[in-house]
Amino acid sequence: MAEYDFDLFVIGAGSGGVRASRMAAAQGMKVAVAEDRYMGGTCVNVGCVPKKLFVYASGYSAGFSDARAYGWNSGGVEFDWPTLRDNNAKEVARLNGIYRNLLDNSGVETLNGRASIKGPHSVIVNGKEITAKRILVATGGWPFIPNIPGREFALTSNEVFSMENFPKRVLVVGGGYIAVEFAGIFAGLGANVHLSYRRDLFLRGFDRDIRTFVRDEMQKKNIDLKFNHNVVSIEKLQDGSLLAHADDGSSINVDMVLYATGRVANVEGLGLEEQGVVLHKDGTISVDDNFRTSVRSIYALGDVTGEPQLTPVALAEAMALVKHWRTGETAEIDYNNIPTAVFCQPNIGTVGLSEEEARDSGLDVTIYKSEFRPMRHTVSGNTERTLMKLVVDASNDKVIGVHMVGDDAGEIIQGMAVALKAGATKSTFDSTIGIHPTAAEEFVTMRTPVAG
Ligand code: FAD
Ligand code: NDP
Repeated sequence: MAEYDFDLFVIGAGSGGVRASRMAAAQGMKVAVAEDRYMGGTCVNVGCVPKKLFVYASGYSAGFSDARAYGWNSGGVEFDWPTLRDNNAKEVARLNGIYRNLLDNSGVETLNGRASIKGPHSVIVNGKEITAKRILVATGGWPFIPNIPGREFALTSNEVFSMENFPKRVLVVGGGYIAVEFAGIFAGLGANVHLSYRRDLFLRGFDRDIRTFVRDEMQKKNIDLKFNHNVVSIEKLQDGSLLAHADDGSSINVDMVLYATGRVANVEGLGLEEQGVVLHKDGTISVDDNFRTSVRSIYALGDVTGEPQLTPVALAEAMALVKHWRTGETAEIDYNNIPTAVFCQPNIGTVGLSEEEARDSGLDVTIYKSEFRPMRHTVSGNTERTLMKLVVDASNDKVIGVHMVGDDAGEIIQGMAVALKAGATKSTFDSTIGIHPTAAEEFVTMRTPVAG
């Protein structure tokens, strides 16, 4: 009789858990995965996928008005929230089915229920104890709302896709990915949007030129940006609306408050500490290079282990871990030059070092920048602009940072990330022939440095 029920028990069928389960099963391991909410995890259900669909939805308002100068008169257009909400829910349900089939077809046993760890080789799901040679924790993250009076009136990204009514006045609190993306989404869908951020400029960690450029573009879209602003309490008024009070004594009356103030590791009730699994101070799980926790048979990956909290990172970690189990070689993940996009309007796409990071690390850098009105808007009259920026290491001519704010920046920067990984120099960029007429060709035609 086998020593354990399974070779691998995965907790959480999100981006990392599904990929690890399928890959492990494909190499002959007997695998089970427990999921207590939704197949596919955050990305599919309340993250990347619905978010991007909502970004598409919000882009139509500008599209309709831009189209007029091109001769299209679309008449009176109006936005219907239930249509977007329900079509999104249908698409998510379709994807849930695909994820379940992927697991079934790989021979992975799926268990619907919340799992907790009982011992180094045993988990409990729906009251039943199951044993496994290895346990993988891939439970992701959970939205964090600061402990202020009235926090129960605020929504998070978990609820925002399924709201009953469309809020006409919105306050978004936070200055990271989710806050900036959703401020753009709600503004594009027609809401009156305020964004409250506690410091002087949002998107901390991104290149400063990108941050100021996005600030200006958002202000052009009438998004009310409140920097150095701290919401201290939320009050529900008799008419059902919300009054958010700030520490400067001011208040904002809105129909919905969305908190986007980061995510914490989803470890509650897992029993990790009882098993001696060491957590970092912020609650994320501490793992070694091979994703092994302080308990030899328990592994962890994805958002639950900390930053960067991105789906392709969780996928890469899952593949590296399963390869490590197969070959015994150290799991190799290169966390440098991870490209990323913020799907605000227009998008941010970025890879490599910001100018500030490069200078702070003592590098002698040359900066190239191009800012222009995209061709589409020469006729549409839309005042939206595009920014492109290259950070070059002057000592060896290597391009070490590529940043963009503009249409399809995420699509464009993915290719730039390949160039950076391949060690492309500025001369390589210069000797590459552009594709005309595109915005992307600017990246290979910037000849004059703006700063040394
Ligand atoms: P998750 O996908 O969160 O999966 C964890 C799963 O574990 C969940 O399904 C959960 O229900 C389950 N679970 C938790 N505890 C238990 C338990 N005890 N028992 C059983 N099951 C359990 N990333 C990008 O790359 N691009 C984007 O555009 C992007 N947009 C995002 C937008 C939003 C609004 C959010 C919130 C996130 C976004 N992300 C994006 C981040 C991305 O969703 C995460 O990095 C990714 O989902 C992490 O995968 P994971 O496997 O670590 O965890
Ligand atoms: P982020 O970590 O990106 O941003 C959190 C924001 O909240 C920061 O501006 C932070 O301010 C602020 N904040 C934190 N704590 C408080 C507090 N107590 N009071 C007021 N403000 C606070 O988290 P998000 O929630 O936006 O997103 C979570 C993660 O999900 C992202 O980091 C990203 O990895 C991933 N994601 C990726 C997306 C993509 O790839 N396009 C889209 C959405 C999410 P400060 O700057 O001062 O720390």
